[in-house]
Amino acid sequence: MPQLSRLKIAVWVLSGLALSSCASTNPYNPNQDGCLLASRSALVLASEEPRPGGRLTATFIGNTTVLISDGETQLLIDGFVSRPPSFKDLKPDTALIRSTLDKAGATSVDAVLVGHAHHDHALDAPAIAKDHHALLIGSESVANIGRGQKVPEDLIVIMEGPRHSVKVGEFAITFAKTEHGAYPLHLRWIHLLLCGKIRKPLEVPANFHAFKTGTPYLIHLEHPSGNVLVQTSAGLEPEAVKGLQADTAIVGMGFLGSRNAGFRKRYLKTHIQDVGAKLAVPVHWDNFREPLPENEGDPLPYFKGDRHLNRAMTDLKAVANGNQIYLPAAYERIVLPGK
Ligand SMILES: [Zn+2]
Repeated sequence: MPQLSRLKIAVWVLSGLALSSCASTNPYNPNQDGCLLASRSALVLASEEPRPGGRLTATFIGNTTVLISDGETQLLIDGFVSRPPSFKDLKPDTALIRSTLDKAGATSVDAVLVGHAHHDHALDAPAIAKDHHALLIGSESVANIGRGQKVPEDLIVIMEGPRHSVKVGEFAITFAKTEHGAYPLHLRWIHLLLCGKIRKPLEVPANFHAFKTGTPYLIHLEHPSGNVLVQTSAGLEPEAVKGLQADTAIVGMGFLGSRNAGFRKRYLKTHIQDVGAKLAVPVHWDNFREPLPENEGDPLPYFKGDRHLNRAMTDLKAVANGNQIYLPAAYERIVLPGK
């Protein structure tokens, strides 16, 4: 074998080894040196530490499921904790939902606010609404997921139209119509399967493609202790954020790295800088087909299939421009910035 070919093979084998050793570590472990986004320690409350008066807290439960509390009212953004490994025969795992929400301190949820009707956002929302006698707030499609799982009609609040608001406790909640994020080229078939609305009650078990997108919404929470904007999917509709201010921006990162640089920057700037956020939290970057880790503060399993996630995280760092970024770890409770 010529010398050059041997050298090539050696380089190839060595780079393969290097890649596989990288793949075994989680670049999104906030406890680890070299994590892309690690500025978080000042925000995290210890398990028993009381909530500072007059401040909101947020607890991250994987994917886009986030508990927001002012100490009186508990709002759950999205409802997805079962994290089934398959895309078939999806149904809520009631025991797992209860133990997970207990761990996260979601003991008395008043409302579940669902950004759109895909299963990785909405599957468990009805079970949580029934368990807690909480409102289920979302599009007509989300309402039909609720109806299919026998949520009483008086707990269902339907958001339709460009903007719709409702008050729960001291939170003024606004749903503003936005866009769903785009899939990379090789996964466009998923978009075709999922586009459209759920037009009648959806019973479970159901396959993932029965959970049609419905109208996607950006969620804005206005509260005397601080405002929060949540974009659960990496889609952009500038009209949706018009006139909205938020101290905290929770931004969906799923497949954002596959978009071009101009879109990535516009998306992050619109949802973070333009609303005046002091804290940015990336969500929807973990592998929602793997279970949540056991302990508080454990890193979430990251989604290796999102090949350009690093690119999106690097852009986030640039757009946050010195403001705080919190990279969620399991069950951690953080204090959100005030007005
Ligand atoms: Zn989605």
